[in-house]
Amino acid sequence: MSDEPIIDLHSDHYFMGEALRLAVRAYEAEEIPVGAVVVRGGRIIARAFNQVELLKDATAHAEMLAITQAEEAVGDWRLNDCTLYVTKEPCPMCAGAIVHVRFSRVVFGVSDAKGGAAGGALNLLQFPGLNHQCDITRSVREEECRSLLIGFFSERRAANKAAKAGPDSDSGQAAQAGAGGED
Ligand SMILES: [Zn+2]
Repeated sequence: MSDEPIIDLHSDHYFMGEALRLAVRAYEAEEIPVGAVVVRGGRIIARAFNQVELLKDATAHAEMLAITQAEEAVGDWRLNDCTLYVTKEPCPMCAGAIVHVRFSRVVFGVSDAKGGAAGGALNLLQFPGLNHQCDITRSVREEECRSLLIGFFSERRAANKAAKAGPDSDSGQAAQAGAGGED
């Protein structure tokens, strides 16, 4: 292909790649794989991944953790000159926080038609009655973001099934044996 993309360290593609790396870390920690970064003036000032299980805190979504970090980095609760990159469309809780801190722009990977609050199920980021609206860019590296989530949930379903089948079932061990190749 002649239109091979040039690596641009300030591109949405690049920053979503950083968010994806964090989502993989969530996956490895057996958390729902969502990652987020906050960018200000072309620099990443916050990186986080979903830690709901680890922290036993339903509010510990990647976006919430990244927002707190970014506020610390900026030294203010206002993040108007910042962009949030997140692998999955923000939920209503995170979208509420995003509006409160006044992000100028939100970039996400995969949409969530059931629970997304950036245009999927509802749109809190551009809600006419609220005092702040964010620009939204959707579908950046969407396939990679989606396949992480799909992989995670299908693995979890398989594990639950194996657990239900009990110790006599060979499916759990077969999965283990099939993994191999770890260094
Ligand atoms: Zn959320």
